[in-house]
Amino acid sequence: MEIKRVGVVGCGIMGSGITQTCAQAGYQVTVVDVSTEVLNKGLASINSILSRRVEKAKLSQEEKDSIMARIKGSVNISDLSECDLVIEAVNEDLGLKKSIFSQLDKVCPKHAILGSNTSCLSVTDMAMTTKQPERVVGMHFHNPAPVMRLLELVKTIVTSEEAIKRATEFGESLGKTVVVAPDISGFIVTRLFTPFLLGAVRMLGEGIASRDEIDNACKLALNHPMGPLEVIDFIGLDTELAIDEVMYEETKDPKYAPPTLLRKMVTAGRLGRKTGKGFYEYGSEK
Ligand code: NAD
Repeated sequence: MEIKRVGVVGCGIMGSGITQTCAQAGYQVTVVDVSTEVLNKGLASINSILSRRVEKAKLSQEEKDSIMARIKGSVNISDLSECDLVIEAVNEDLGLKKSIFSQLDKVCPKHAILGSNTSCLSVTDMAMTTKQPERVVGMHFHNPAPVMRLLELVKTIVTSEEAIKRATEFGESLGKTVVVAPDISGFIVTRLFTPFLLGAVRMLGEGIASRDEIDNACKLALNHPMGPLEVIDFIGLDTELAIDEVMYEETKDPKYAPPTLLRKMVTAGRLGRKTGKGFYEYGSEK
């Protein structure tokens, strides 16, 4: 069945980026969050990203208007009842995600694909809250979703070939290259990248090098567009900590153990760009 309407649950950093990506590719998108206030913040961020593209002549005003017209915000998950594919992008909390999947299972049409943007949690656990676990797929977009070219699909032992085929075609229609990973904690990308990010936090916490030395060294030596501490600010320190806790709990591998400095920063509300302060300060974005 052709995918025309896409639903997104969560309009935070990733949900807003996924909404923009899908609307830019021509899909009608309904995005749901918990309150009008949070929803409007996410929609405003899409609007301002597109406005900057218009200012730089990378997008016409008409194109921007038609992208925005394809996006509908809602605070009611039952508004996803006509979606052919839904991507869940709420906080990295398995209990929360399971409750969303059990609601989606009741609300969405039988033919709809249900995807999760989780970075590391068990997609099987989410799938098993539904009556049709074969249609549940991990759909791990990367940040910023409209820019990053990879879509990592996660196939559980119950996901059908048909669901993977449809999710692959959908990912390719967004201009993404698709890889399929098994449902192990962290899949491919998070499993490989997390020890690198946490190594940078430990290096800073142990006083081995300063923030700028670490980030500049990685940018210049590895040709990374951002240093690892900048990347964690971009991800959100709370999200990073949630990922580390899950991965450490599951693997018991010390390379995934959350560093003390990261925990303290989250306790202090220094969550990165989203709160205006993390390893760096973002005065105007506060
Ligand atoms: P975020 O905190 O920016 O956004 C989460 C959003 O979910 C918030 O707007 C919140 O209000 C909303 N939400 C919470 N409960 C909800 C509910 N019951 N119904 C509807 N909306 C609800 O988090 P994020 O960074 O966008 O992360 C979302 C997911 O994407 C996580 O699973 C995370 O691991 C994954 N992810 C994040 C990144 C990243 O760089 N931040 C990259 C890839 C994947």
